[in-house]
Amino acid sequence: METQPRTPTDETDVIILGGGPAGAAASLALAKHGRSVLLLEKSQFPRYHVGESMVPYLTRLLGNLGLREQVEELGFVPKHGVEVFDEEGTLRRAPFEMLAPGQTPLAYQLDRERFDALVLDRAEPLLSELAAAHAQVMNGDPEWFSSGATTDARSFNLYGSIPATCYGPEAQNIHGIDESVSLDSTLRVAQVLALFVTRWCGVEKTQ
Ligand SMILES: Cc1cc2nc3c(=O)[nH]c(=O)nc-3n(C[C@H](O)[C@H](O)[C@H](O)COP(=O)(O)OP(=O)(O)OC[C@H]3O[C@@H](n4cnc5c(N)ncnc54)[C@H](O)[C@@H]3O)c2cc1C
Repeated sequence: METQPRTPTDETDVIILGGGPAGAAASLALAKHGRSVLLLEKSQFPRYHVGESMVPYLTRLLGNLGLREQVEELGFVPKHGVEVFDEEGTLRRAPFEMLAPGQTPLAYQLDRERFDALVLDRAEPLLSELAAAHAQVMNGDPEWFSSGATTDARSFNLYGSIPATCYGPEAQNIHGIDESVSLDSTLRVAQVLALFVTRWCGVEKTQ
């Protein structure tokens, strides 16, 4: 994600410095509650970072932030517990059920470069604003998913290094011979886009 100079506006509720997992997750959570967040990150993402061994306490948080499916799609090594050697050199195994009772007994060995970029991309204010407009019109969070389909967004990502996201109405068999799209959903998506554009760009009174 390319960082661009941003400045707070009258609409900004919170300014967060740092788009690592903590800053990006806080930004996402605030946006989910309708807050306008300005997230400032000084590095160019994706960037190398240490700290790749995830603990199970975070798995539920990933789900709450709507990120778990995409983390799984990135193919990180799943972990079900830890293994350590004691002072006598005997291997001890501790499953997460035992180490973290009540938590999801699963974590991942992350590549922080890709993980942090995923979380920061999701916290991108433009996408948060779009998601907030969607939530207001549709009374529910948008569904996020990665697609391997040959959309324009894929070309932007692959050949232009330009992050791109598709947002649109409910449809079936997209690009298929029997493609269909819900008219009701199309109308409501038009409302979402209108709301998003007025919020993102601002409005001015005409004479
Ligand atoms: C050697 C080592 C090993 C570790 N191993 C593990 C591990 O195995 N498992 C684990 O869970 N944790 C591990 N950690 C800890 C883990 O890396 C951190 O807990 C985690 O990165 C903290 O996330 P964060 O979002 O708070 O900060 P960071 O990930 O450090 O992100 C902070 C961001 O803020 C940006 N920033 C800083 N200053 C500014 C500024 N003025 N303006 C704008 N942006 C700014 C930085 O560029 C950075 O992207 C390890 C840490 C170290 C050092």
